[in-house]
Amino acid sequence: MAALILDGKALAMSREAELSIAVEELIRSGAKVPVLATILVGGDPASATYVQMKQNACRRVGMESVKVAMPESTTTEELLAQIDLLNKDPQVCGILLQHPVPEQIDERTCFDAIAIEKDVDGVTTKGFGLMSMQEQAFGSATPAGIMTLLAHYKVALSGKHAVVVGRSPILGKPMAAMLLNADATVTICHSRTQNLAELVAQADIVIGAVGKPELIKAEWIKDGAIVVDAGYHPGGIGDIDKTGLDSRVAALTPVPGGVGPMTINALISQTLDSARKDMS
Ligand code: NAP
Repeated sequence: MAALILDGKALAMSREAELSIAVEELIRSGAKVPVLATILVGGDPASATYVQMKQNACRRVGMESVKVAMPESTTTEELLAQIDLLNKDPQVCGILLQHPVPEQIDERTCFDAIAIEKDVDGVTTKGFGLMSMQEQAFGSATPAGIMTLLAHYKVALSGKHAVVVGRSPILGKPMAAMLLNADATVTICHSRTQNLAELVAQADIVIGAVGKPELIKAEWIKDGAIVVDAGYHPGGIGDIDKTGLDSRVAALTPVPGGVGPMTINALISQTLDSARKDMS
């Protein structure tokens, strides 16, 4: 049987229709239009495209976005000052600092300067801690989007062995925590993992979050597994080699059209949640 396609693009579109209605209702109830502030530091074209896609999604659901573009030479102090301004701006209910920032900037310090109530991309240490402890917090957008996708397709997680390849602060680590919170048994792999192929072969659910084109080989993946590929590389290539997988795994995310649209959807959905909290 052909694998079920975990269609993030279609799900994001249908969720956008619901979000549009919710934004309209919020505004009708007297709230101001929710505003997401995006900060882009430097001129990386891929980052500029991602920020533009996030702004477009805001507009499609009736929210506003303001773009702060800072030069490549920006210092940590300059970026912190900008974040401080946005933290204090009552018009802004969410702040997105596009990752990665130029290397002279202390990205962790800048992420952590974002006010927790405006951390709609889920990048702060405090937000990660709260989420891990199953307290109220906005989840890191990419893993939060993946969890929504898996829930939509009713993928069972409890008791399953999930193998997350990658341990970055915005993707692998929060992904592992979310799966653990959903009662999966989680293995986290990284660049020092010695027996990657063997570990992946044990997975009921494989999450590719490694940032290297097709590093995870199709032949490692067992029949009937759920395959989630967060990677995106030029030419529509992911972190997982999909050769022959569609005839033997249970489900898989396409690249593009799987995880990417769900990341943006998680961001705008959490921006709306932040605007709602502002009202209460
Ligand atoms: P990252 O910060 O570069 O982290 C990559 C992780 O992979 C690290 O933990 C690294 O291990 C691990 N790794 C590298 N080489 C490895 C190897 N040979 N074997 C096992 N593990 C290895 O990347 P990221 O930001 O998490 O992104 C990962 C992927 O997701 C990228 O393809 C990126 O484009 C994609 N992404 C997609 C979205 C989206 O919206 N769709 C959003 C964010 C990221 P160490 O920790 O040991 O270095």
